[in-house]
Amino acid sequence: MSDLDSFRSDVAAWLETNAPESLRGRGASALEGVWGGKKWVYANPDAKLWLERCVEQGYTAPTWPKEYGGGGLSAAEAKALGQEMGKLRVPPPLIGFGLTMIGPTLLQYGTEEQKLEHLPKICRGEIRWCQGYSEPGSGSDLASVQTRAVRDGDDFIINGHKVWTSYADEADWIFALVRTDPEAKKQEGITFLLIDMASPGVSIAPIKLISGSSPFCETTFDDVRVPVKNVISKINAGWTVAKALLGHERTMIADAFGGGASGTSKKRKGLSDLARDYLGGDGEVADPLLRDEVAHMEMDTRAFLLTLQRTRDAAKAGHQPGAETSFFKIHGTELNMRRSELMVRLAGPQGLGWEGDGFDEDELARTRDWLRSRGNSIEGGTSEIQLNIIAKHVLGLPD
Ligand SMILES: Cc1cc2nc3c(=O)[nH]c(=O)nc-3n(C[C@H](O)[C@H](O)[C@H](O)COP(=O)(O)OP(=O)(O)OC[C@H]3O[C@@H](n4cnc5c(N)ncnc54)[C@H](O)[C@@H]3O)c2cc1C
Repeated sequence: MSDLDSFRSDVAAWLETNAPESLRGRGASALEGVWGGKKWVYANPDAKLWLERCVEQGYTAPTWPKEYGGGGLSAAEAKALGQEMGKLRVPPPLIGFGLTMIGPTLLQYGTEEQKLEHLPKICRGEIRWCQGYSEPGSGSDLASVQTRAVRDGDDFIINGHKVWTSYADEADWIFALVRTDPEAKKQEGITFLLIDMASPGVSIAPIKLISGSSPFCETTFDDVRVPVKNVISKINAGWTVAKALLGHERTMIADAFGGGASGTSKKRKGLSDLARDYLGGDGEVADPLLRDEVAHMEMDTRAFLLTLQRTRDAAKAGHQPGAETSFFKIHGTELNMRRSELMVRLAGPQGLGWEGDGFDEDELARTRDWLRSRGNSIEGGTSEIQLNIIAKHVLGLPD
């Protein structure tokens, strides 16, 4: 038996003993699960138990070094762990922006002190993070951020206004872009700063979406005092860090939406099953045109997932994401929008329920997923901006 085979069989045995029965067969989604943080309320005791057991093994961040709370696994071992978890269809023990965005960025740009302070808390699910990039006048033109940070001894005093801050009301800390030099070229006057949301002067106001939920907020900083030691990399060098984090964010978004595992529909019926339920058909979907569309969608999704898997393997082996993440972001979110649209069409009038007894829980959830999916081409940088990045940095086209 090779070392990897023996690791795999140890992991399978560990999972057999430790993966709670009630969580098996539930499937995995990068957006549903335990987000952690001080305000987190566990849906059931097994979710907490599953997290605690995985934390002990370092399995919430399998490839991160052990000294920061990770598992210290090689890329191949982490892949085997993922595959064994996949066989039982247990959800990931922990999800969120700590693991997918700020954690990898800290590993690359943080000081030893910053890594030791923040990474173990992320791995244990103790602190939940949100992202403070966008402002009312700075979305696509992110480098124009105006939130001001003025030095006062060992602190910065922060004043400004962030918008579309996903889950700010649930988060404990925020990673933010602030302007430290208003005179410099706009990219050269930005600093990447970590801010405790409990600091005096931080206030948040939820924004309600078309889907009916309020997953994001406006975040205001009013004379908020933040230690200079919370700067990642150097003062005025935040743009480089910001771009690196965006690479991680795009991969996370593509991962979350592209595979069809996103949304709130509890039963997660596949497209083919849904098509048979609504359109009938003995084995194959009765309507030939829709059958063709379903088959294309399933094939595109499978091909995309395989491509993403290769990227994940490369990331686990230490490859930092580059401009190719823009392709993943566009393609993954387009797939999700197409899939959500198709699900609504398959269900006919049953696909457009908002509330009431005429619709089951899954139908109502799918309508909201469909409405939520409209934001996919905007969040994490719009599709047009991704096309600009591909044109410039991948194809080398002139401005
Ligand atoms: C669901 C969701 C969650 C989000 N979560 C967060 C979060 O947690 N934290 C955070 O900081 N932000 C978050 N955002 C904000 C998001 O990053 C911005 O909305 C996005 O970057 C676009 O910025 P904007 O809304 O200001 O649009 P604008 O930049 O004003 O763009 C408007 C339109 O103009 C187009 N456009 C702009 N510039 C160009 C150009 N140069 N070339 C071609 N077309 C262009 C855009 O593509 C778009 O269609 C979230 C957004 C959504 C929808």
